[in-house]
Amino acid sequence: MSPLLLPRRAFLQLAGTSLALSGLGLSTAAATPRVAAVPGPVLLNFNECPYGPAPAAQIAARDSVAGSGRYLFALAGELRDVFSGQEGLDKDHVRLYPGSSEPLNRAAILWTSSSAGLVVADPTFEALGDLAAARGATVAKVPLREDGAHDVRAMAAAAARINAGLLYLCNPNNPTGSITPAADIAWLLANKPRQTRVLVDEAYLQYSGQRSVIAQVMQRDDVIVLRTFSKLYGMAGLRLGVAAAHPDRLKELASLGDNPLPVTALAAGLASLRAPTLVAERKAENARVRQATVDWLGARGFGCVASEANCFVVDVKRDGTAFTAAMAERGVVIGRSWPIWPQRVRVTVGTAAEMVRFREAFAAVVGASS
Ligand code: PLP
Repeated sequence: MSPLLLPRRAFLQLAGTSLALSGLGLSTAAATPRVAAVPGPVLLNFNECPYGPAPAAQIAARDSVAGSGRYLFALAGELRDVFSGQEGLDKDHVRLYPGSSEPLNRAAILWTSSSAGLVVADPTFEALGDLAAARGATVAKVPLREDGAHDVRAMAAAAARINAGLLYLCNPNNPTGSITPAADIAWLLANKPRQTRVLVDEAYLQYSGQRSVIAQVMQRDDVIVLRTFSKLYGMAGLRLGVAAAHPDRLKELASLGDNPLPVTALAAGLASLRAPTLVAERKAENARVRQATVDWLGARGFGCVASEANCFVVDVKRDGTAFTAAMAERGVVIGRSWPIWPQRVRVTVGTAAEMVRFREAFAAVVGASS
């Protein structure tokens, strides 16, 4: 079976290995295979950044290798200081992790159990819910509102109903890229049950026009905000993420064990934070390419939930799983469907050239004009 047709879980296990890459016709040695390889398979499936780390970040990562025989804890301290300074937080409210998956997993382990449930949106990024459910927690899935926002009133009610230890709010949301207005989040924080911690996942915030809620961690001890360098900063394979919270919550997260950070990721992360125009440039380019794609789809009768991220969900008006397989057969690997929306699929925004390939494949699969 071609890796393009593998079920998501199996492909995930292969992804990143030379087997998966060679199966896709890509070389493990290529620095930026996706951009260079537009004639080959186009990967629009994991909400990665097609541009990779910023040029300055790549240089910094390369230059750091010679010193990486040391743990270089001071470099981690420097990055934490720069991040907390930029965000206006006290240093003791920030902790770095190798990616945001790690604090997400730790949150599920610490704050959900058979007696403390989890409230999530539906659809949303499933890692936290899957882990909590596997550990015996009740997971209440609350459908997004029609406009794609989290239904915070229904989520607060669900939190009270299941005695939630944790409520997960992804803003912008994965898979939709839809946003939840700051006023709704403020309402949630004011009205949720006291025992329910709120984890706000801002993995895609830099692509959006939304204000961060990160300042809340200086006011409250029941809000945890996660950021990652995997998305706009293009460092998914380098692994760097941030948890911001009251020091007591950070201490609880850290209680599950320490794990020093890759020096290459720290060097690239610092260079990214210090690149003055990086966020604005990538945000603008992503919005331009996303809007052109969404407009093209809309003109052919395929509607999308309004997105402010580097992904969107499109209603393909047929079985989403079969559609994704048909796209893969044409060399365009898109994301998947969520059970609540079997006829919609998630698509990552690639480069302008990659989205030309997306449109060609989409038109061929649905029989529309390209
Ligand atoms: N949170 C969200 C919403 C995501 O979409 C992802 C990855 O796709 C992650 C967290 C985890 O990313 P990472 O561990 O690379 O920081």
